[in-house]
Amino acid sequence: MSDIIQLLPDHVANQIAAGEVVQRPASVVKELLENAIDAKATAIQLLIKDAGKTLVQVIDNGSGMSVTDARLSFERHATSKISSAEDLFQLNTKGFRGEALASIAAIAHVEMKTKRDVDELGTIIKIEGSKITEQEVVVTPEGTSISVKNLFFNIPARRNFLKSDQVEMRHVIDEFQRVALVHPDISFKLYNNGNDLFNLPASNHRQRIVNVFGTKTNEKLVPVNEETEIVNITGFVLKPEFSKKSNKEQFFFVNDRFIKSSYLNHAITSAFEGLLKDKAYPGYFLYLQVDPKTIDINIHPTKTEIKFDNEHDLYAIIKSTIKHSLGQFQIAPVLDFQRDSSMDTPYEYKNKKIGSPTIEVDRSFNPFSDEKIGSRVPSSTPFSSVNIPKKNSDHWESLYVGLESKMTSDNTDASMIEFESEEVTGSFFGDADIVQEHVTLQVQNKYIISKIKSGVVVIHQHRAHERILFEEFLQHITVNQAVSQQLLFPVVISLTKDELMYFKQIQDILENTGFVFSKTSDEEIEISGIPAAIEDSKASIIIHDLLSSMSNEAEDNGLYANLVAKSMAKSIAIKSGKSLTSQEQEDIVNRLFACKEPTVSPINKSIFITYSTSDFDKKLL
Ligand code: ADP
Ligand code: MG
Repeated sequence: MSDIIQLLPDHVANQIAAGEVVQRPASVVKELLENAIDAKATAIQLLIKDAGKTLVQVIDNGSGMSVTDARLSFERHATSKISSAEDLFQLNTKGFRGEALASIAAIAHVEMKTKRDVDELGTIIKIEGSKITEQEVVVTPEGTSISVKNLFFNIPARRNFLKSDQVEMRHVIDEFQRVALVHPDISFKLYNNGNDLFNLPASNHRQRIVNVFGTKTNEKLVPVNEETEIVNITGFVLKPEFSKKSNKEQFFFVNDRFIKSSYLNHAITSAFEGLLKDKAYPGYFLYLQVDPKTIDINIHPTKTEIKFDNEHDLYAIIKSTIKHSLGQFQIAPVLDFQRDSSMDTPYEYKNKKIGSPTIEVDRSFNPFSDEKIGSRVPSSTPFSSVNIPKKNSDHWESLYVGLESKMTSDNTDASMIEFESEEVTGSFFGDADIVQEHVTLQVQNKYIISKIKSGVVVIHQHRAHERILFEEFLQHITVNQAVSQQLLFPVVISLTKDELMYFKQIQDILENTGFVFSKTSDEEIEISGIPAAIEDSKASIIIHDLLSSMSNEAEDNGLYANLVAKSMAKSIAIKSGKSLTSQEQEDIVNRLFACKEPTVSPINKSIFITYSTSDFDKKLL
């Protein structure tokens, strides 16, 4: 039999390598920005079209390349940054593997213009799928401009695998921010489809963070500084009260490289122990400098993971340094730091009488009985301003386009639950006025138990309320806009650029739920009206939660309505641990079973379980 092994042609090898280096437009952004920094540029512009799917272009004023270097830069393992294996352990450049440009050129249409200061004329090279289609002299300013068009044009499977523009743009911005935050001495600009998204003048670390995340960030920063034998730490942590439900404000850099390290992240989080809100992530911008000999960067093609020689020591140092900084901050909060007044509820609110909306709830309505009940007794409920949607109403069924809940609770079909109505004896609930009610009982301030024909149903109060609110918000968003309650004092919230980008995408949806935004600027939004179902002091928390859940989940299919309804319902649903009056309990039971999907919460958790008397019989044999 003849030999069967052959060497792969270069363009195939490059395409394979590209699979590791280039996952999405953001990977191209990272590699090109890093090359510009390695070329000692002092001003870098990033131009993006269609989230980088159509164009990623980086223009720098760095060293530029000679004609030969320009041509060679697209070869695999072609680099000016290392020449021997030892160099790997004294790296002071971002790149060193010499494969980024070769990989990118294998899977896109690339055009590079470059010129050194010693040369009169520059070079233009066009290359498509590893094939050079043009190489000429050209008049071009000093530095390099590389444009990468039609990424994955020759690998349709990869191109189809790309996410929505919104998600890809999120990744592009992430990479841009990671690079910009660690090089404050370089000026950066980011244009998205011709609009200027970030314009960051050269400055210092603190100012750069503020320019990226908005002026309000300044007063949230607590400085961190420590010099030890093995590491120098500088940077900032965010005051614990500004921690968010997303980890988007966690930046950890080692020797000017953005690094992911769950171990060291744990060190930081543990320094915040006891100071964070429930499920919140601490925010931080930490810059570590260590001896390059003590780390190995070459363990992953995208260079975002590294191996430390002395990880355990670093853990201890980081934790104690941050604890120390936080301690200092707590001792002298007034001197060093000013409170962010926009986050406070104006004092007057506390005494303000909130005109609660009138509510009509049909207490005698049984969603599961087919017969219409004539007399309806209006009463008020603290939870909402809307009428209970009627299960059999025609368009109710068609409201929830894209609602992807599944039945996951036990095998009980909600429509089969029959409530047992009965006279409540005054002595039991102490309220002789209430007649024709279901008997409910709250257990451990967490579950509501109600009698049903076959036995009892045990309802998780928080999830039930979440479901109710979710469907109500969704109804407002998709069918009929909710009325809003006006705020006496508009609330101003400051947002980062990307939060603002998300905000704009959902502004209409929020307005349908009852929010009124009186002003929006580049950094702030002003809320002058809120949905009737929410307390005014919660308005800003709700918006912040929502925007951070958007950046986390980056809903791919445009189902923002779903996301908004889900997040708002989650923020305001009554929590486990809240004691409820019997009227409130009953209101929840009624409204839950008037829902379209009463069995599962918006995040698909079971809301209730049922026990039949035969279950009891079996247990009590
Ligand atoms: P690496 O950065 O790992 O060396 P690349 O494929 O990213 O590999 O780049 C190959 C070489 O091309 C670099 O080593 C550098 O000499 C040159 N180069 C790339 N981009 C630029 C740029 N913007 N300015 C100057 N030289 C560049
Ligand atoms: Mg490189």
